[in-house]
Amino acid sequence: MKPYPKLTNAEVQQLDSGKCPDCGSPSFFIGPRGGMNTNVRCANDKCKSEFNLILGMDGAFGKERISEKSPAAMAILDQVFKPID
Ligand SMILES: [Zn+2]
Repeated sequence: MKPYPKLTNAEVQQLDSGKCPDCGSPSFFIGPRGGMNTNVRCANDKCKSEFNLILGMDGAFGKERISEKSPAAMAILDQVFKPID
């Protein structure tokens, strides 16, 4: 299985501030836990990006992406990048 892309520093900072790095939503659903780690899913219906993290701990340690980058994020990127006329 291909690993999901590593979180960038900017994405880690977004998660540390409680926001989904893909769509900016401040809401997450809590999923399965294992040891110190918890799986969370973005609550934005169009996004649903999933991350594995240690709740309450800032920084890159223990944080990873566990789903494909969401279509919502792709749609946002599509709005930012436009074809040259
Ligand atoms: Zn999201």
